[in-house]
Amino acid sequence: MSAKNSSHIWDLVEAKREAFFALSDRIWEMPELNYEEYQSSAEHTAMLEQQGFRIARGVAGIPTAVMGEAGEGGPVIAILGEYDALPGLSQEAGIAEQKPVNAGGNGHGCGHNLLGSGSLMAATAVKEYLEVHGLKGRVRYYGCPAEEGGSAKGFMVRAGVFDDVDVAISWHPAAFAGINNPISLACNEINFHFSGRSSHAAASPHLGRSALDAVELMNVGVNYMREHMPSTARIHYAVTDTGGSAPNVVQARATVRYLIRARDLPEMQGLLRRVQKIAEGAALMTETTVRSEIVSGDANLIGNTPLEQLMHQNLERLGPPYSTNETKPLLRKSRRP
Ligand SMILES: [Zn+2]
Repeated sequence: MSAKNSSHIWDLVEAKREAFFALSDRIWEMPELNYEEYQSSAEHTAMLEQQGFRIARGVAGIPTAVMGEAGEGGPVIAILGEYDALPGLSQEAGIAEQKPVNAGGNGHGCGHNLLGSGSLMAATAVKEYLEVHGLKGRVRYYGCPAEEGGSAKGFMVRAGVFDDVDVAISWHPAAFAGINNPISLACNEINFHFSGRSSHAAASPHLGRSALDAVELMNVGVNYMREHMPSTARIHYAVTDTGGSAPNVVQARATVRYLIRARDLPEMQGLLRRVQKIAEGAALMTETTVRSEIVSGDANLIGNTPLEQLMHQNLERLGPPYSTNETKPLLRKSRRP
């Protein structure tokens, strides 16, 4: 893209900034958790309608997923946006210190109210650029639910909604402005539920079979495995059910949740099989049983280096983000000792 063209598309973005700032503010005010983003999805759908996109609702059978398309023929450029929030992050807008609107309520972490609005603004600018220049090409905005865990994009891929897409672009707020060389490992989330036999830990310890012992032994086993796995892989765990809080009761049930991350799917599946063997070993040692339950799974992200380089060149031409009169006082305030 020439300097003239990139400045034209920037003008198209600037012309609509207020409407999209307002959209991201509305999303901030209605924080909804993954797969429950009904109002937020409706706000994005209304904006797609207002900007003249052809709309597909309930994409991939997910009620809060939406897709808007514009243009004819040519390559299909997808710009992905999200709008789900996290529990416990309720926060008043416009201040740099923690102040929940409702204690313990939902809120948008790391600027997630901006993700959908920014992407939809970009898709709108590309739509208008194609129209003004009479270019062939289709631009799509995909409103993707459940970015904060929930793997909605995986279900959307499986349903084939990206099959004819040539390029998919997403973004995330960060402490720098630039093109992110995407490192997003393949990831599997899996619960291991152990079942044993309860008994009084002092009166009849020999009758008990502790599910919590099995969890502890499993974690020890996996920690020994760490030395013998690719250094790019990551494994972490949390005990989500200790089986109770009384130490004088042998715990008849316990659950540990594992996250296994690796460079690609074959590497991740290999590690998953090894972790499963360790779980079975822990069950064998403690005379308990184990049941594993996959919570979610995602493939690794595959980058597009030539496109990233091109985007970087354009970003360099635009220069760093500027602060406005509204954001300057806020920046000063947050830097105050
Ligand atoms: Zn984030």
